Amino acid sequence: MKDRADYIVEQVKAHHELFRDGLPMIASENIISPLARQMLISDFADRYAEGLPGARYYQGNEFVDKVELEVIELAKKLFEVPYADVRPISGTVANLGVLFALTKPGDTITVPNVSDGAHISTAKFGAVGVRGLQGVPYPWDRENMNLDIDGTIKVIKEAKPKLALFGRSVFLFPSPIKEFRDALDEVGAITWYDSAHVLGLIAGGRFQDPVREGADLITGSTHKTLPGPQHGIVLAEPKAKAMTEEKMLRKLNYGMFPGVLSNHHLHAMASLGISLAECIEFGKEYAGAIIDNAKALGQALYERDFDVLCPHLGFTESHTIAMDVKRHGGGTPLVEALEVAGIITNKNLLPWDPTDAAMNPSGIRLGTQELTRVGMGTSEMAEVAELFKRICIDKEDPLKVKPDVVALKSGFQKVHYCFHPDSEAYKYYELL
Ligand SMILES: *Cc1c(COP(=O)(O)O)cnc(C)c1O
Repeated sequence: MKDRADYIVEQVKAHHELFRDGLPMIASENIISPLARQMLISDFADRYAEGLPGARYYQGNEFVDKVELEVIELAKKLFEVPYADVRPISGTVANLGVLFALTKPGDTITVPNVSDGAHISTAKFGAVGVRGLQGVPYPWDRENMNLDIDGTIKVIKEAKPKLALFGRSVFLFPSPIKEFRDALDEVGAITWYDSAHVLGLIAGGRFQDPVREGADLITGSTHKTLPGPQHGIVLAEPKAKAMTEEKMLRKLNYGMFPGVLSNHHLHAMASLGISLAECIEFGKEYAGAIIDNAKALGQALYERDFDVLCPHLGFTESHTIAMDVKRHGGGTPLVEALEVAGIITNKNLLPWDPTDAAMNPSGIRLGTQELTRVGMGTSEMAEVAELFKRICIDKEDPLKVKPDVVALKSGFQKVHYCFHPDSEAYKYYELL
């Protein structure tokens, strides 16, 4: 069996080389800092700690408890909220826990539409459906890639949801929330903001401040613009008239455990603590650079004849840009050609695509958070846009473009915005 194990190690090594030499531009990914990565291989990875610090079901949790309390404090400090749960093992699990805590099967919840860029967990074939809820979608303003405010107020008043969910996976511009507060209070709804994609931007004081704008609670993934380990988080500052603060927090706590968690991946939690501390130190600068790069990339692609969405709005206010590439062959063939050259992206449905277009949608979604993390700036974004043009528009053989991708990336091998910034991002693969 040793050969089978060796085979797996070889694949992981090859994967590291792919990402070391390539340009990772998937908007939901990032790389963690060397110190955060070390926590992932600690003995925390092998243990259980059910319950809460100081009230566990197992022994041996003395130091786990200290870490968990510290990570909670760091989260509360970074996001300026009175309540943080750092146990969810992913964004989807955080969402499931919230649904378990605050809804009953048959309840109505208002949601963004998947075809307008919402995440699968908000759909009937995702977490919302698992909980047996009725999801009522908000109307969408395609031109501005945002919620239609008057239509959304109407939907809220008519649907009278238990929960109103905001936030999405193609998240170019802040979601209006303040505008809905009165309507939500009128129908007794709780405001929930899924920040998975933009958590790191919010941490850096950019994009929007959902809690101050009226959200009662936030869920998120901790590995997208927040450059931490794959994990989830719940943050709350309840103010809805629907429920007392104490009751909502108690429900949220039980919703996670015993609701949807047993083991909460202690190694990832410790790693998250490092990432939160790094964010407190470097998060502002990082978030600013991500957004500058996204706008620059949007502009550079637009100038090269790509149909980047929302030029009238500066393309984006986040890490993400979206392009309609139907004119150039559609999402699928282009992301495949880009991959051959070492540029890692994903195809994406756009609001005007038919629902059965999932296999060759019109869109490509790009994120600048990881290229920014390794130190790229706006001048590199122009170089990246030129590589896109050669592959997608000039139809150059992607294998011939690949050496230029590798050459560009070779100057960007270190993780920035973290402690120990001299460590090379993919150096650890040599351990294997
Ligand atoms: C990525 C994402 C999630 C799910 O996160 P995981 O950590 O992958 O489970 C939830 N909601 C939104 C809006 C997302 O983009």
